Amino acid sequence: MPRPTAITLDRQRQLLIIPWDDGHRSEYPLSFLREGCPCVECRGGHDNMGQPPDVDSLLLTIPLERTKSYLISKLLPVGNYGLQPEWTDGHQTGLYTWAYLRELCPCPECRARAKDQSLYRPLGE
Ligand SMILES: [Zn+2]
Ligand SMILES: [Zn+2]
Repeated sequence: MPRPTAITLDRQRQLLIIPWDDGHRSEYPLSFLREGCPCVECRGGHDNMGQPPDVDSLLLTIPLERTKSYLISKLLPVGNYGLQPEWTDGHQTGLYTWAYLRELCPCPECRARAKDQSLYRPLGE
């Protein structure tokens, strides 16, 4: 499992830049990173679409897409396996593990590989 050798928050270009110890380099637009937030709150919102609203989860998901912050105020390392960004709207429950970040890498090379893997998955396995 590749690990980051550094984590750079480029506030000017609004990118999170991660060079990996296998030589790969990932650049995540912050909006992309926020939309991919792995926390239960963000992911649960998608699973619950079309379901009758549950008031508790409604309260949790009240920040609408357009009011979501795409700016990171703080980056907190989590042990040696991930990081937890705090967004300027206070959202900070997303824990991005290295594996998740690597999977999320938006570069053409990684996107192509992800596509290949789903296309060429051996049949019957
Ligand atoms: Zn989230
Ligand atoms: Zn990549």
